[in-house]
Amino acid sequence: MQNALTLSAPISRLKGAGPKLADKLAQLELTSIGDLLFHLPYKYQDRTRITPIGSLRLGMAVVIEGDIRGTQVAFGRRRSLICRIQDGSGLLTIRLFHFTKAQQHVLKNGAAIRCYGEVRMGPTGLEMIHPEYQVREQGEFEALDQRLTPLYPTTEGIHQIRLRNLIEQALDVLNAQGGLPEWLPPDWLTPWQLPSLTDALRTLHRPDPNTDTQTLLDGEHPAQQRLAFEELLAHHLSLQALRQATQATGAQPIAKSKRLVPALRDQLPFSLTGAQQRVCGEIAQDLAHPFPMLRLVQGDVGAGKTLVALIAALQAIESGLQVALMAPTELLAEQHFLNMQAWCEPLGVSIGLLLGKTSRKDRNQLLDGLERGEVQLLVGTHALFQKGVDYHNLGLVIIDEQHRFGVQQRLALKEKANNGTPHQLTMTATPIPRTLAMTAFADMDISIIDELPPGRTPVTTTVISQDRREAVIRRVNAACDDGRQIYWVCTLIEESEELQAEAAEATANRLAEALPGRQIGLLHGKLKAADKSRLMAAFKAGELDILVATTVIEVGVDVPNASVMIIENPERLGLAQLHQLRGRVGRGTTESYCLLMFGQPLSEQGKQRLEVMRQTSDGFVIAEEDLKLRGPGEVLGTRQTGAVGFRVADMERDAHLLEHIPALADRLNREYPSHSPHIIARWLINADRYAQV
Ligand code: ADP
Ligand code: MG
Repeated sequence: MQNALTLSAPISRLKGAGPKLADKLAQLELTSIGDLLFHLPYKYQDRTRITPIGSLRLGMAVVIEGDIRGTQVAFGRRRSLICRIQDGSGLLTIRLFHFTKAQQHVLKNGAAIRCYGEVRMGPTGLEMIHPEYQVREQGEFEALDQRLTPLYPTTEGIHQIRLRNLIEQALDVLNAQGGLPEWLPPDWLTPWQLPSLTDALRTLHRPDPNTDTQTLLDGEHPAQQRLAFEELLAHHLSLQALRQATQATGAQPIAKSKRLVPALRDQLPFSLTGAQQRVCGEIAQDLAHPFPMLRLVQGDVGAGKTLVALIAALQAIESGLQVALMAPTELLAEQHFLNMQAWCEPLGVSIGLLLGKTSRKDRNQLLDGLERGEVQLLVGTHALFQKGVDYHNLGLVIIDEQHRFGVQQRLALKEKANNGTPHQLTMTATPIPRTLAMTAFADMDISIIDELPPGRTPVTTTVISQDRREAVIRRVNAACDDGRQIYWVCTLIEESEELQAEAAEATANRLAEALPGRQIGLLHGKLKAADKSRLMAAFKAGELDILVATTVIEVGVDVPNASVMIIENPERLGLAQLHQLRGRVGRGTTESYCLLMFGQPLSEQGKQRLEVMRQTSDGFVIAEEDLKLRGPGEVLGTRQTGAVGFRVADMERDAHLLEHIPALADRLNREYPSHSPHIIARWLINADRYAQV
């Protein structure tokens, strides 16, 4: 029976794996025996050697051996049993919060003890809390383990030992089968001195005693690097496959604009920057193709992305196609709508706004117009792609600020178009470090607007403690005297709009008290959309001196006369987010100021991060720092972490591999085209979905 097993057989064929267990394993995406091989340890316990107490460091998980030098019950905040151990090199305490009389008795003075546990700092020195232990009054301890002990990610109801046993069986099947097929050309591995896939898997599941444990724990072992390499390649190949599948659906080619774009440019009180012109050119080229554009435009805040988007939209509209512009928030959608309307109306282009809360009557009217093709440009939030929103001839979708379209959304888009897939233009103000862009956006072409419109003055940033609030308020008052308008931004860690709104309201009240006679507005997420728009309009018109706001103003809001921004508790925000916020000032010609008013105490890292903000206004530098300090998930935003959720690879640790991936992916597709689907299938859970697009 056992020798008939193959890696593609279901796990239930293994010994000790009943249907119940199989169901639980399916929750971990483990169904075939082969899947188990790719279920890798998340860490290893080293029980192969004894570490002298004198060389322990915090956080180490190790085996120690010594003699018991006193056991007693300690009455602190919680009663605990403490036991001191000495091994000639130092002294360690073990602490049990739950203990029995019998345990107290076993931990006898002078007996030998062996413990395995994690080293922590206790009130009197290094400790292990509830370690595993054995005590011997005479005789030897058992032999130490021969290999590092793998610990696997598991789920409720599957014991670590059970999982380990199943994986052992899977390794036996692997060996009986003579290993896994190798899809990487062997000579590719030599420059990095990486093992074959099969050897790498064997090493990771059953590291032998000679394995360099520290590199393994750090994830830098060649076996891990081998897998990371293939995983990064698989990820890249899958995005390319997705791109090809999307483009294979075709799109309606869009000709260069002869009428609308020149008319817009005549209307503009300024000329496009060189960078804007270049990016518009890249977009025009994409649009001319009979397959969908998949382009990401990156540009720092204030670089003028909206105009670039508008120019693309006008091109599509002139070709008789409709355009959908999606913004991440209703506030931003309204802002876009107002801006676009101002540009579009003189050109005779009809534009609509669709929000979740649009009244049924307005909505029906809008949707009728959309279906008949009378609405040429539709602005909105996610509502744009809901059921019941039917376009006459959707040809271009513009996604503002970092909404990344996943596979599902692309499928939905295809359904919205009646001829191929719409062209797609994504705009983001988050400068994405190069390695990250290569990984997360491998399915898109990237354009960068790397030039700000002329006449911008850089924002002077000051870092100041909240203790100096009074002084800050005096400065705000003086700035108002100079005719400046001010943003006062309140941040909160809590996600709750409710709490945010309350905090902002309290601040607004305090400011009103301190600065009687100043016009103060309060903007937060709990306000009705109409009230928000009214407030923004009043602020834009100069009727308000100070706008107290939550981080809802983070994206897109454009009031050139606002030249001072106070940010409370900037230490709570990511650098990219601070950069976005700060980008709301410095849009006019007067010199602008940003005050980062931090709360005490500020950690060393917190200080460093604010210092970065003070020193530079270069979004790329800030993003690189953010990446270093907080990792890729935070930089891309939680929405996108799925795109970079690797099983083995780590974008920072494996950056040296990552650099080579795009070229190698191209080469693989050229020289070994049949291998690529195998590599994708091996690494991507639900890999088949890439074929459906
Ligand atoms: P972002 O890239 O942050 O979306 P916007 O598109 O909102 O930037 O542009 C910011 C401001 O700069 C707007 O007021 C816009 O009208 C103005 N602007 C855009 N392009 C130019 C340009 N070439 N010259 C001068 N001002 C420009
Ligand atoms: Mg914008």
